[in-house]
Formats: sequence, structure tokens, C-alpha cells
Amino acid sequence: MDLDLTPRERELAAKARAFCDQVLLPREIETDEHGELPQARRAAMIQAVIDWGFAGVNHAKQDGGRGFTTLEQIVIEEQLGRATNGLWTCVWRPPVSLKFGTEAQKRDYLLPSNQGRRRGCFAITESGAGSDPRQVRTRAEFRNNQWYLSGEKWFVTSYNASDYIIVHAHVDGDPDKPTLFLVDKPSPGIVHLRSPRFMHNYAFDHAELRLEEVPVPPERMLGEIGQGFELTKDWFVETRLQIAAHTLGAAIRATEIANDYATTREQFGKPIRDFQAVEFMLADMAVEIFAGKSMLYRVAAEMDRGLDRKLAHARASALKLFCSEMAGRVIDRAVQILGGRGYMRENPVERLYRDIRVDRIWEGTSEIQRGVIGGQIRKRGLEIYTGWG
Ligand SMILES: Cc1cc2nc3c(=O)[nH]c(=O)nc-3n(C[C@H](O)[C@H](O)[C@H](O)COP(=O)(O)OP(=O)(O)OC[C@H]3O[C@@H](n4cnc5c(N)ncnc54)[C@H](O)[C@@H]3O)c2cc1C
Repeated sequence: MDLDLTPRERELAAKARAFCDQVLLPREIETDEHGELPQARRAAMIQAVIDWGFAGVNHAKQDGGRGFTTLEQIVIEEQLGRATNGLWTCVWRPPVSLKFGTEAQKRDYLLPSNQGRRRGCFAITESGAGSDPRQVRTRAEFRNNQWYLSGEKWFVTSYNASDYIIVHAHVDGDPDKPTLFLVDKPSPGIVHLRSPRFMHNYAFDHAELRLEEVPVPPERMLGEIGQGFELTKDWFVETRLQIAAHTLGAAIRATEIANDYATTREQFGKPIRDFQAVEFMLADMAVEIFAGKSMLYRVAAEMDRGLDRKLAHARASALKLFCSEMAGRVIDRAVQILGGRGYMRENPVERLYRDIRVDRIWEGTSEIQRGVIGGQIRKRGLEIYTGWG
């Protein structure tokens, strides 16, 4: 069993760390105070991602991406996850479902997205359809040689940084025909209702949209009618690993800050780490990180060795569940070790504390992940989690 990172993986991790420190961290406070990354900063940010070699981080070379392995992507994402205010999303990840597109769709959407000339967002959730996407009410109807989309979408992340939307709709309102459509921005009939504020301040918005008979040419349907979930499955595996990597990076940063503070802060005549109550918190934080990181690197390496797609899905749920909840526990302790300073917005642990909460909700809540894991145990046996190989 070879557990060593290769020199290339180490080099990529170091480069991503430097990118995070030099490009993302200097933008944290202003993003938090402004509520989003200020418009005036966005073009330079895209250029920085290109210059540092992180454009198309999750796609194959033949599609204009970097051709990184899963483990290489993970070591990069872990470092990006150190940044607060969702600034990691500045290193955009073109939707993975685009790799199943036609040659023309790849040319018009995937290639320019990998090059930083376009950006897409994804709209599945609605007011009545969250964990249960069969409740989606957005309809697609085919008339006069084109599709017309009607409905309302919620929580569309990075809408204001995107120039196209992948819309999940039900053909003729039939939940057995979930289908994806590439919708350009602007298009007639797209109404931006509002972009509400959330617990975190994030680099971009989370919009609510109304689609009023939005016309979409037939060649902009992604995949086949009814393939909506199938195409999104690979996306879920990717985003769940990505969340595990970000939350791991966030937990490590908070622990480093807490560890330094516990060494330098003195009360009752000695560093607070000399109180066992504090040192035990640090010990628990380190061990939780050790467990999450071991799981994550193992699964990434397994995927690079061709892990079966269904097993990858099962593992991704376990990773997302464990790492997002682990980071919540770790960062909560970091706030505690820093005392009042940990509650100040100018302190990264306060921002990490707010940022990390959504990771137990989006891309499938913790309860949905437990449901997936429970189902996998019933179908394949406990061994898929308790065994090895
Ligand atoms: C900041 C943010 C950004 C987002 N970005 C996007 C985006 O870009 N695109 C997009 O399409 N969506 C996005 N979402 C939506 C997100 O994926 C949903 O919020 C999530 O899937 C949960 O749906 P819901 O909020 O409707 O909660 P609900 O599904 O209503 O769940 C409410 C509660 O019930 C529990 N529950 C529901 N079903 C079950 C069950 N079967 N078993 C046990 N418990 C259950 C849930 O776990 C939760 O605790 C975003 C959400 C947020 C907060």
C-alpha cells in the first residue's frame, strides 16, 4: 500500500496554498463586508486563476481542462478551502455534466468555460422541491420546433457570475422525464426575482428566478429526455468530494489558528494550552482531521484507480457527511479556544464558523447522505464501509 503523495501532488498542493494565501485571503475581509466579491475585483480574479494554471481544474485536457487526477484535484481544493466567504468558488469548476454534451455543446459551453470565458450555474431547487427533486414544477414543452421552459428556481448559486444556466425541468410536467437544458443569459423570459442574504457572505449570489416561457433551441437540450438525474449523479460525486476537501481545509486552518493562540495566550500565569481542557480540545480537533483526511485521500486514490461508479457514489456520501460535520465540530472548538476573539468577524474562525454550516445542507443534506449510506448498506452489506478494498 503506497500512501505517499507524488512530488507532483505535493507541488500542486504547495501552489494551491500559495494561490490561496496570495490571491484569495487578501480579498476575504472586503468580501465579508461587501457581502460578495466586489464587481471591480472579478475580472482580475478570473485572470489570476488562469495565470496560476487553475482554469478547467476538473476537466480533461481534450476538453480544454487541466487533466488533473481526482487526488490532484483534492489536494488543490483542500488548500482553497482555507479561504473564507466561499472565495474558493473563484476557482470555478465547469459543470461535469457538460462532458456528456454533444461536440457543439462542448465547443460552445465546456471549452470556453474551461478557458474562463464563460461560467455556468445550476438550477434544480424550487420552493417545493429541495431534497425531493421529483417535486420540481418547472416544465419543458416542445412547440414550433423549440422548447419552452416555465417555472421558478431557488438558490441558484453564482447566478450573477454566470452567463448560462443549466436548468433541470420535467418534460411535459412528467417527473419521469427530468431533463437538463442549457439556457443562455440573457434570454427572453428569464426574470431575476431577488438574491436574498444568507448566513455566510459568499463570493457570488444565490438567486431566485422565474422562467416565463423561456425559448430554448432543441440543440441546447443536454443529454436525452429523462436523463436529468443520470447526468447529475457524476456531478454529485464530484461536488461531494469537493465539499469534503473544502471543509477539511477549513478545519485545518481553524485548528492552526487555535493551536497558535493556545500557545501565545496566557491566563492565570501560563499559556492556555497548559490547561488540559484546552489541550484536549486541540487533541480532538487534530484526530478528527486525521480521520477525515485519511478517508478523503483514500477515496480519491481509489477513484483514480477506477473505482466502480456506484461504489464511488456510496463513498462520496460518507465523505461529505463526515467531513462537513467534522469541520462543524472542529471549528466550533476553535471559536471556543479563541474566546471573545473567536467571535469577532475580523477573525477567520468566526467566518469559517458561519461558512461551514451550509455544507451540511447543500448538495444533499446530512440526513439525505445518511439515507444514501443506509440504502447502500442494505443493498451491498456493511462491508462496503467496514471492509478494505
Ligand atoms: C446557500 C445555498 C446555495 C445553494 N445552491 C444551489 C444551487 O446552486 N442550485 C440548486 O439547485 N440548489 C441549490 N441549493 C439548494 C440545496 O441543494 C437545498 O437547500 C438542499 O438540497 C435541501 O433542500 P431544502 O432546503 O428544500 O430542504 P428540505 O428538503 O425541505 O429539507 C428540510 C429538512 O428536512 C430533512 N429531510 C428532507 N427529506 C428527508 C428525508 N427523506 N429523510 C430525512 N430527512 C429529510 C432535511 O434533511 C432537512 O433537515 C442551495 C442551498 C443553499 C442554502
